[in-house]
Parts: sequence; structure tokens; C-alpha cells
Amino acid sequence: MNASLSAKIVKEIRVDIDKCTGCRACEMACSAFHAIPRYSSVNPSKARIRVVSDELNDEYVPIRAGDYTPSECNGRHIYTIAGKQYSECSFCGASCPSRDYFVEPDSGLPLKCDMCECVPPLEEPMCVQVCGTDALTYVEREVERDAKRQPTRGEMEEGIESLVKKYGMQAVMKTLAQMSKGAKS
Ligand code: SF4
Ligand code: SF4
Repeated sequence: MNASLSAKIVKEIRVDIDKCTGCRACEMACSAFHAIPRYSSVNPSKARIRVVSDELNDEYVPIRAGDYTPSECNGRHIYTIAGKQYSECSFCGASCPSRDYFVEPDSGLPLKCDMCECVPPLEEPMCVQVCGTDALTYVEREVERDAKRQPTRGEMEEGIESLVKKYGMQAVMKTLAQMSKGAKS
């Protein structure tokens, strides 16, 4: 391995569509976990996971919400699976202006899977916990990371934003001030 590369463990949700029964427990659990207050309601239209279903062909595909995209795709593919045609949009995790998937129905804001990030952290995300068939599993994967690479401005902003969400602006500013003092001394 290159000397500047080190291993990092990332956790991810693996999807096995052959095991999905279309029960939609994942949608319900996700919406309950993100309800305010937590677990106060169940509304799959607010879930950050959506199960594309074709009951006749017994095909079910869980899709997790990804990033918001402000523009629609120029061209879309059509997939034929077990004799049924699906638009590429069916399997896309983005919230975008051309459809109302992964959009919070009350506010109209885009929804994105946050891996159920919370304090203290869950052992497994809610959708994985409730999936009784192991169609969703939480797995670790080793990736190589370049130790010399500096984080980009966008990555730093994203990192700081999630720290602010977790610990509050005051605590983050205090820590950054302390770090900057330490760097100067
Ligand atoms: S809980 Fe599991 S089996 Fe049920 S719909 Fe979701 S992914 Fe499929
Ligand atoms: S990981 Fe959490 S936020 Fe993401 S889809 Fe599953 S339950 Fe929803």
C-alpha cells in the first residue's frame, strides 16, 4: 500500500432485493424515527426510504433518499424487468423538481437519508433494525484514504454543519477557537 494511504472503515446499508417482500416496515420505521417528537407518528410519505413495488411480478426494490438535485435529467432510460417497464426515475434516490418522491409533504423540503444519525448513535439504522428478511443489512467496508489529502472547502462546511446540528453553534465555535489558538502557539 502507498505510504500516504491508510485504511478507513465505513459503514453502509447493503440492499438485497431478492429478499425484499415489500412489507414497507422500513418506510414506517424511518418516518417514525424522524417524526417530531420522535416516534410520535407514522407516515411513509415522510420516509427517506421508498419501496418500488410490482406486486404482480413479486418485485420490490427499496431505494434510500439521496441528495436534492435542482435540475431534471435530460435523458432517461427505461428498464424492462420481468416484462414490466420502469422509468429510470423509479430507482433514483434524488429528490428533484420533476416528481414528488422524497419531498416532505408539509414543508415541500427535500428529504435525505441521514443514516439515522443521532446522539447516542443507534447500533443499526431503523430501517435495518425492522427489516425481518435481511433485505437491508448494515455492513462495514474498508476503504483506502489518502492521509495527505486536505479536506475540500465543501467537505469542511458539511462537517461543521453536522457538528453544529449535534452540539450547537456555541460549543462548535468554542472548540474551533481553542483549536485555532493551539495551532498558533
Ligand atoms: S422492511 Fe425489508 S423486506 Fe420490508 S419492504 Fe423494507 S427492505 Fe423490503
Ligand atoms: S438509514 Fe435511517 S434515515 Fe436512512 S432510510 Fe434507513 S431509517 Fe431512513
